[in-house]
Amino acid sequence: MPLVTTKEMFKDAYEKGYAVGAFNVDNMDTFKAVVKAAEQVNSPVIIAISSGALKFIGKEYVREMVDCALKTATVPICLHLDHGKSAELCKECVDLGFTSVMIDASSYDFDENIRITREVVEYAHARGVVVESELGAIAGIEDEVCVDDKYGSFTHPDDVVEFVTRTGIDSLAIAIGTAHGAYKFKPGQKPQLRFDILQEIEEKLPGFPLVLHGASSVQQDSLKVLNTYGGKMPEAIGIPEAMLREAASKAVCKINVGTDIRVAYVGAFRKALHEQPDKFDLKLFVGPAMDAVTELVKDKMINVFGCAGRALK
Ligand SMILES: [Zn+2]
Repeated sequence: MPLVTTKEMFKDAYEKGYAVGAFNVDNMDTFKAVVKAAEQVNSPVIIAISSGALKFIGKEYVREMVDCALKTATVPICLHLDHGKSAELCKECVDLGFTSVMIDASSYDFDENIRITREVVEYAHARGVVVESELGAIAGIEDEVCVDDKYGSFTHPDDVVEFVTRTGIDSLAIAIGTAHGAYKFKPGQKPQLRFDILQEIEEKLPGFPLVLHGASSVQQDSLKVLNTYGGKMPEAIGIPEAMLREAASKAVCKINVGTDIRVAYVGAFRKALHEQPDKFDLKLFVGPAMDAVTELVKDKMINVFGCAGRALK
């Protein structure tokens, strides 16, 4: 099965009220574990590669690794660049064979964000590749302190139509309260997503696929495994799964997961090391770590995003 873009995936997801998971992989182990999960539950899957992961794995290795999986893949796979910080990097990934790229020029002002995004869109679309861009600041709740403005640093619904029209993008990452990393909320703070803003954006852009970044749930049981075997991570508060479920049932068609994968992998790796102190066969430690990632991804696909059983042929 060849690589696919997210076009058909998002169309189906929007119509049927589910979301496709985009999973950040950092090496071949996590990549194989995510693809295995998608195949076991017959789900479409987006493999997200950050610029850091691209450097770590190596550009040619990424392409070969994915090609290898495609020979036997039974589900649609999209290869996506996560947070491309420059037009050059996005174009490079298009040339490498990625089927989707994210240009993240959200740190620039509105017009410059549009200019850079438009440049990527023209290059990518001419080569059959889709583009995601970001509007608003996806960060931590601590940045959201402006009391005068109901929207603060969140994506402003009044901006989205102009942004989408002038850039020509295929999907839009919005800021409604999710945050990257394990510590999304302060201790004691109630996790909250701004569904009112999501609703307003959805009304302005009917039928247009939206994207949620920083959507790990950081379950306490997986943190517990990590900490039981020598980890020292303080309690984290992620995005409750019920909120992700609700977002997936609305216009959110892609939900990104990175932190949850890393916590699951490292926790299972530590546990295996601890339980087998007299062994040094790498497979005894990497194997359980990969299995933990597969189980986590399957759980998200079945119970949270609703994309299990949705692989389009
Ligand atoms: Zn992100």
